[in-house]
Amino acid sequence: MNEAEIQRQKEIKEAEELLFTGPQALGFAKGLFLGRFVADWAMPYPRVPAAQQSELDKSLAEVREFLDQNLDPAAIDRAADIPRDLIDGLARVGVLGMTAPKEYGGRGFSQRAYCKILEEIGARCASTSVFTNAHHSIGIRALLLFGTREQKQKWLPPLVTGQQLAAFALTEKEAGSDAANVQTRAEPSPDGSHYILNGEKRYITNASIAQVLTVMARTPVPGSDKTAITAFLVTPDMPGFEMLEPRMEKVGIRGTATGRFAMRDMPVPKENILGPLGKGLKVALTVLDFGRTTFGACCTGAARTCLRLAVEHANTRRQFKKTLGDFDLVKKKIGRMAADLYAMEAMTAVTASLIDRGLEDYMMETAMLKVFTTDRLWEAVNDAFQIHGGSAYFNDSPLERMLRDARINQIGEGSNEVLTSFIALVGMRGPGMEFKEIHDTMFNPSRGLGKAWTAGMNRLGAAVKIPNVPVKSESLRSQASQLGRLVWRFNLSVNRALITYREPVMDMQLVQERIAGAAMEMFASACVISRLDADLQGVERNGEAAAGNRRAAELFLRQSFHRIRRFLSELTDNEDEALLGAANSVLGKGKSSKAETELAGVS
Ligand SMILES: Cc1cc2nc3c(=O)[nH]c(=O)nc-3n(C[C@H](O)[C@H](O)[C@H](O)COP(=O)(O)OP(=O)(O)OC[C@H]3O[C@@H](n4cnc5c(N)ncnc54)[C@H](O)[C@@H]3O)c2cc1C
Repeated sequence: MNEAEIQRQKEIKEAEELLFTGPQALGFAKGLFLGRFVADWAMPYPRVPAAQQSELDKSLAEVREFLDQNLDPAAIDRAADIPRDLIDGLARVGVLGMTAPKEYGGRGFSQRAYCKILEEIGARCASTSVFTNAHHSIGIRALLLFGTREQKQKWLPPLVTGQQLAAFALTEKEAGSDAANVQTRAEPSPDGSHYILNGEKRYITNASIAQVLTVMARTPVPGSDKTAITAFLVTPDMPGFEMLEPRMEKVGIRGTATGRFAMRDMPVPKENILGPLGKGLKVALTVLDFGRTTFGACCTGAARTCLRLAVEHANTRRQFKKTLGDFDLVKKKIGRMAADLYAMEAMTAVTASLIDRGLEDYMMETAMLKVFTTDRLWEAVNDAFQIHGGSAYFNDSPLERMLRDARINQIGEGSNEVLTSFIALVGMRGPGMEFKEIHDTMFNPSRGLGKAWTAGMNRLGAAVKIPNVPVKSESLRSQASQLGRLVWRFNLSVNRALITYREPVMDMQLVQERIAGAAMEMFASACVISRLDADLQGVERNGEAAAGNRRAAELFLRQSFHRIRRFLSELTDNEDEALLGAANSVLGKGKSSKAETELAGVS
């Protein structure tokens, strides 16, 4: 094995240890890759428990009233600041500690209920929703999930009531997408009572307004020369904490305070370690899973505003003696926005409920939700902007701000490219392991045939069986059966990709993008079918609105099925070689590929 191969195997082993911890219930997304439709996780459509619904309705009414009276997103954007009064008010209506247990002063809401609140904030002001997310969804999350009872008692009460604010500090110059590459060091003091932190963090939301920061730093692994990441609770009054840039100037979500800070020989008591020593990366990834769920909720809220603005303008602006809404190319945008919005709402609800219902491993679904909702919001803002024409381009238009604000979503909390690749690789691991079992046994029969037999039967079973997508509504049977067939076809395509490309598929991001894209669409379609089934069963029947929703949902399914088919057919019919060749030559990488030579021959 050469050095690169040794390094690669090491990375694979580390990722395996981090992401796959013993047997767990099969999640929805992983099931898709095995050719299964694990209906229980998506159906029936999740409801907020009746006991919590009235509390949620009350909170929603309170939050809406507060936001209507006090939130001015344009002023926040202009001033590049969220007024303290607004933060105090958000705290008063419970937003800053909504999912924290009541015993610490929180509201004890489920993730699903909290997402409804964040949809409301996201619909109005992205700065405020990102601030809230940074404080609650990721800032205090590690404490909520991994804190000891003593830590929670000490730190949580002022945080959930907004007396103190929180931030989550993972990113550094060398650790952006490559989150595991944290360079900040934490060395134990000689007497073992403290860790001494040295390093710099950048792009940290709330850094300069937070009183408590969850900071990721590298600690020595006892008894070896290795290091591993550990999470620490840090306060800015610790000696050696230095704010280098409290508010980095930026294009959007300008109200948020995005900061850069240094820690120089900063002592942190060992009692401030969150979660197990050396398991900080697991802590960080789990926290980000929660963040991605509320990210989905915020994008959903913003997409709803885009649709409303687009409809208002399309119904009032007249050109060529017609309203804009009379033109099919405008209708095309509005229909698609409504369809995507229905799916975004459904996917957010189902994903949040996975957390509430205790599925141990929801990392693929939260990644799918993040990529899907952020991409769709970007399209929605762009479409609404286009419908508004020149009037959207000026600073008094909410769409001008929304366009700038929406751009961060595809980059933050894991860029969409990294997450797309992650979805494909984690998903393909399941069938890949089964193939490996069969392959290893064929070449080493002394291993015994038991496991290989099971793996072989699983592969064979998935190949012959079209999974059932159970629906109650007769009128949904056709869509349900189409989705079942697509899951079956998807599984065949994944198997074919694994057999054709084997291990190199781990580097083939264009293949991964199609596989992840199809999987995301299938998850979205399953959520839409689940929601529509509930709508049709009368659970959410609401006159005209229900009819409009139904058309939007049906359009989504048609468009989504079309996209799935395209992803799958492009696995074998594509211009990847030419594309990579062109990119390589511009990047100055490698020699001319076969595709390049062919292209040159054509020109
Ligand atoms: C406004 C704002 C607020 C933020 N708030 C926080 C916060 O509160 N806490 C925190 O810890 N961090 C925060 N971040 C950091 C954010 O999470 C990172 O910016 C993000 O993870 C990307 O890292 P990077 O910017 O270093 O980009 P890079 O890692 O340099 O990546 C740049 C681009 O390269 C591409 N790319 C990278 N890797 C791959 C790959 N493997 N495959 C294909 N393409 C790839 C992607 O298109 C990516 O967008 C914030 C960032 C911003 C801009």
